[in-house]
Amino acid sequence: MSTSVQDRYAGAVMNTFGPPALALVRGRGAHVWDVDGKEYVDLLGGIAVNALGHAHPALVEAVTTQLATLGHVSNFFATEPQVALAERLVGLLGWDDSARVFLSNSGAEANEAALKLTRRTGRTRVVAAQGSFHGRTMGALSLTSKAAYREPFAPLPGEVTFVAYDDVAALEAAVDDTVAAVVLEPVQGEAGVVVPSPDYLAAAQRIAHDHGALLWLDEVQTGIGRTGAWFAHQLLEGVTPDVVTLAKGLGGGIPIGATVARGDAATLLQPGNHGTTFGGNPVAAAAALAVLDTIVAEGLLEATLARGTQLESILRTQPGVVEVTGAGLMRGAELDGPYAPHAVAAGRAAGFILNATGPSRLRFVPPLVVTSDDLDALDAALPAILDTARAAAQEASS
Ligand SMILES: *Cc1c(COP(=O)(O)O)cnc(C)c1O
Repeated sequence: MSTSVQDRYAGAVMNTFGPPALALVRGRGAHVWDVDGKEYVDLLGGIAVNALGHAHPALVEAVTTQLATLGHVSNFFATEPQVALAERLVGLLGWDDSARVFLSNSGAEANEAALKLTRRTGRTRVVAAQGSFHGRTMGALSLTSKAAYREPFAPLPGEVTFVAYDDVAALEAAVDDTVAAVVLEPVQGEAGVVVPSPDYLAAAQRIAHDHGALLWLDEVQTGIGRTGAWFAHQLLEGVTPDVVTLAKGLGGGIPIGATVARGDAATLLQPGNHGTTFGGNPVAAAAALAVLDTIVAEGLLEATLARGTQLESILRTQPGVVEVTGAGLMRGAELDGPYAPHAVAAGRAAGFILNATGPSRLRFVPPLVVTSDDLDALDAALPAILDTARAAAQEASS
């Protein structure tokens, strides 16, 4: 008998993620199957990545056709998908023709490009938020607040001041004329779906601009329809950031990141200032265009609002859930005790891929194509999942 994928994993893959919970072999819509043929409803969606679910025909077709036509050329040359994607992103943001796009391969890279861009303002200080997550490369990590991620890698680059999230007074105190940019997530994803007051981002914009600093919104997790709008900041009045970073849902599972800047910020990076071998790769760009086209063709912004409302009411009526946060298909659920990791395990046993962002916090970021039936199945299963988890947590602590 051959050794299982999971057993071989530890002998071959660097141990940065801990042991994998499952070995998966295929997917369809918001469903995945493991090596034993067991089916799961996927409420994590590759961490807010698989916007179109798994194996969506439009994505398969776009990637296959582009790869069979022209797969990679380097940034010495232009390709139609790269330019079309840049144009589309600027259009979806509703920005004027000053805007420019830098394409890369991940959220961390999108943020690295933005961080380098801020250096070209001539200022070096950046203000970020407590609870923030901006990625794991050294620059992105310098903006990420979690001590456990940062401390093993000190000293980190940059002069970063962390302020309490959703605290306008803290921003007012921290931002002065030495600050290049204020970087914020419109909704903090890795922190467990933390939504600020509706006027917070507008206040951040006013404070940044009063001091000649850029407002940079990290929409890596919130962007591309996740909250029911193309970008989460579009749900708010009067918020027009100078820089937006994107990744996760943009490629629907094909790696891609984007840094979009407007006005003076759009020309801060000049020839020679930044680069990437793969960024703007036509296959990745074609994938992103297919994601954007399909969101329109299948009405997925509207679906995200409808399914999001359904998910919210399912979570709100669960015994043991004390708070539900978020918008669209980005939801946090606070449990009445520290048994979220046990809920993830019990969910798996019951055929659901769940996610815990903290001891008592669940996060739901399913594919935007998740169906009403998928969520009804969650509704039916969740009480038993949470009961099992509560009991398992008690058992473990006794
Ligand atoms: C996931 C995430 C990142 C990092 O993206 P990677 O593709 O993992 O590098 C950055 N910012 C936010 C808000 C994220 O959720």
